[in-house]
Amino acid sequence: MNTLNLRTVIDTGSDVNYPVWHPFSNTTRNYFSMLNITKGEGIYLYDINNRKYLDASSGLWNISLGYGNKKIEDYILKQLNRLPYCSLFDYTNPTVVLAASKILSILPPNMKKIFFTCSGSESIELSIKIMRKFWALNGHPEKKLIVSLNGSYHGTYYGSISISGIEQEFVNDISPLPGEAIFINGGICRKCKCSNEYPSCDSNCVYNLEEIIKKNIDKIAGIVIEPILASKGVEVLSEKFITGVYNICQKYQLLLAIDEVAVGFFRTGESFYIKKYGIEPDIICMGKGINSGYLPMGAVSVNSRIVEAYSSTDGVITHGSTQGGNLLSCAACIASIEQYEVMNIGANVKAMGDHLKKQLSDRLLYHPNVGEIRGEGLLLEVELFINKNSGEHLTTEQICTIQEILKNNGLIVYRSDVGLTILPMLIADKDNINNLVDILDYTFKHISF
Ligand code: PMP
Repeated sequence: MNTLNLRTVIDTGSDVNYPVWHPFSNTTRNYFSMLNITKGEGIYLYDINNRKYLDASSGLWNISLGYGNKKIEDYILKQLNRLPYCSLFDYTNPTVVLAASKILSILPPNMKKIFFTCSGSESIELSIKIMRKFWALNGHPEKKLIVSLNGSYHGTYYGSISISGIEQEFVNDISPLPGEAIFINGGICRKCKCSNEYPSCDSNCVYNLEEIIKKNIDKIAGIVIEPILASKGVEVLSEKFITGVYNICQKYQLLLAIDEVAVGFFRTGESFYIKKYGIEPDIICMGKGINSGYLPMGAVSVNSRIVEAYSSTDGVITHGSTQGGNLLSCAACIASIEQYEVMNIGANVKAMGDHLKKQLSDRLLYHPNVGEIRGEGLLLEVELFINKNSGEHLTTEQICTIQEILKNNGLIVYRSDVGLTILPMLIADKDNINNLVDILDYTFKHISF
């Protein structure tokens, strides 16, 4: 018999029988340390006591169209009644084909095929396999190394964690990892040592990258770029760096994979972020907003270079999971993309993103702990300092404290190790944004470290 009593647990603050082990947590976390969420409506969440919270973390950056979206629910239900599941190992299905076509219709035009996965991490996993085997198929099985960015986050599966810059200090205990990666710096102009101002800088980071590539060209399969280091406090990489990486890949025939798991599907206003720079990579990794977070789903798209390399009898990719391309997930994906388009969501994100950035700058920058407000579209960072002049950040505990106070004031935000990451849902309107900023403004007026 289940002996859990939710109220008692909340009141007493602990329960050794609490049955869930949470991600990125030790085994002692329980009801007491977390909000107990029971309902969602539009951009709002409700806890077990019916308290309302504005969700400016969009779930885990994925619920772009809000909770209780009727269109998505209808599509899922219709699919559920018709056919809930169809293996892609040996069968196809109109829903899966339509979902792939819809995704291709908003990707850069050079993308040719979609491989469905169950998460962003799995998408990265698959793209590493695709890159490595590509070279084996082309007579260079020794080209296995992946180049990735310090500060990047690509997920927690073994392949994806092995190329995640921000995880490297934590991976020793779970090693060995499946492959060595080369981590590089670049594209964060504020932190650059070169004395020239962007964009007239001498692009040392691109130059350094090229030197590394030249030295290791026989071993390198490709480069994976997270174009905005979202988990590292929304560090937006410079256009010069991104186009520089692209040009290097072209020059040395390396494969380029872009991780759009966080920024794809209109988070920054573009359907896919790198479209802004007219870049056509070989591989794009997707997740999160692919179906507005209603069901587990990710995807990898590939261009004709990959399609051709894998078209021979040897070109079988050793990848596939039972639920990859799940029909209910695909139905939610079709409904989401249709709504992104009908609602002209990209334009809303750009307008609301500009409004949010201006409001945050006008109303928070005066505060002694608040440094830069940066980001793109509805993916913004409020960087927090003990002392703006010395550049020393608030501690993780202090940032968590602010996050907790905001929760108490009815606002859920995400946090990084340098500040607060603000990601309202893509459907947010001006009133929602003003409401969000009011809570931040009120909260910051009452705290300082
Ligand atoms: N890549 C990026 C850029 C991400 O932000 C994330 C998730 N935060 C992932 C990959 C991993 O996705 P998932 O959590 O769905 O496995």
